[in-house]
Amino acid sequence: MRPPRGVIERYRDLLPVGEKTPIVSLGEGGTPLLLAPRLSERVGARVLLKVEGANPTGSFKDRGMTVAISRALEDGARAVVCASTGNTAASAAAYAARAGLACSVVVPEGGMALGKMAQALVHGAKVLQVRGSFDEALALVRELGERDPVTIVNSVNPDRIAGQMTAAFEVADALGDAPDLHCLPVGNAGNITAAWRGYRLYREAGRAGHLPRLFGFQANGAAPLVTGQPVAQPRTVAGAIRIGRPASWKGAIAAASESGGGIQAVDDGEIMAAYRFLAAEEGVFCEPASAVPVAGLLRLGAPPGSTVVCVLTGHGLKDPDTALSQIGSPVSVEADLDQVRAELGLSGDDD
Ligand SMILES: *Cc1c(COP(=O)(O)O)cnc(C)c1O
Repeated sequence: MRPPRGVIERYRDLLPVGEKTPIVSLGEGGTPLLLAPRLSERVGARVLLKVEGANPTGSFKDRGMTVAISRALEDGARAVVCASTGNTAASAAAYAARAGLACSVVVPEGGMALGKMAQALVHGAKVLQVRGSFDEALALVRELGERDPVTIVNSVNPDRIAGQMTAAFEVADALGDAPDLHCLPVGNAGNITAAWRGYRLYREAGRAGHLPRLFGFQANGAAPLVTGQPVAQPRTVAGAIRIGRPASWKGAIAAASESGGGIQAVDDGEIMAAYRFLAAEEGVFCEPASAVPVAGLLRLGAPPGSTVVCVLTGHGLKDPDTALSQIGSPVSVEADLDQVRAELGLSGDDD
C-alpha cells in the first residue's frame, strides 16, 4: 500500500529533506480552502477559510511535525520533547508514535484544553504539567535540548517552520496566486514566520506572482507583539495563543512590516463572537484561537473586492469545555410528546 500523500511528498523540492530521509506522515495538508459567503458579505471582500482543523491531529502543527519527526528519525534521535499549550503536544505525540520515538511534552498546568490532553495521552506521550506558564515550559525544554539527548520539536526547530510553509503553498496553488491579505492568529509566532517565508519562497520559485500582506492577531491579554513588551501572565480564552514571550518575535515583526501588514490585538469578546459566527453562519467549528483572525478582520475590514484568507488553525472539538461553558447547555424534558412539542415551539396546532 502507498503511504498517505502528505506535505513532504507534495512539496519535497521546497523542503529540507533528502532521498534518504525516512518520511513519517499521517497524510497531513491538503486542507479545504472554503469560501465564507456570509463573512464575505459582512466584510465586503472575498473571504476564504483555510480549515487547518482538517489535518490528522486537528491543527496546522502537523505540517511542521511531519518534517521535524522525519528529520529527527533520519538523525538517529530516540526521543523528542516539546513545550505546548496543547496542539504541538497532540501532534508530536501522534507523529512520534508513528515513528516509534519516545515523546515527552511539558505543558502549563490547567492550561491545556481537554481534547488536546486526551490526544497527547492516548498517543502515549509522557505529559508533564508544570506549575507555570507556556513560556516557562519552553525555557525548560530548551535547557533539556542543550544537556540531554532529546530533539526539540517546538517551532524553534527550523524543520517545523519549513513544514508550515506548505499552508502558504497550498493557498497559492488553490487561488492561482497569493491572496491580497493573509490573516492568522499569533502565539509563539512560528506560523506567521513560516507563512511569510513560504510566500516569498513560492514567488522566488516562480510559482506565485505576488506577495500577500500578512496580518497577525493576538488576544488583548496576551499581546506582547502589539505592546512591544513580554507579558508575564498572559490571559485569554484562546489557549493556543496564551503566550507572553514569543520565540519567533523577530520573524513575526518582519513578516508584518515587510509585507505591509501588521500585528494587532482583539479582545476575548470579539474572539467568542467570531467563534460563534463561524460555527452558526458558516458551518465551521474551530477552536477559540482560530477565530482570532476572523475577529481581527471584522475589526480591521479589508479593501473592497480583495481576496482574504483567514487561517483557522485548529478544530473546535479540541476545546469542548469552552464551547459548552460559553455557548449554552441543552434543554432536558421527559420522554413525552407534548413536552417535546412545547419545547420545540410546535404546540398549539392540535385539533
Ligand atoms: C499553535 C497554534 C497557534 C499559534 O501559532 P504560533 O505559531 O505559535 O504563532 C494558533 N492557533 C492554534 C490552534 C494553534 O495550535
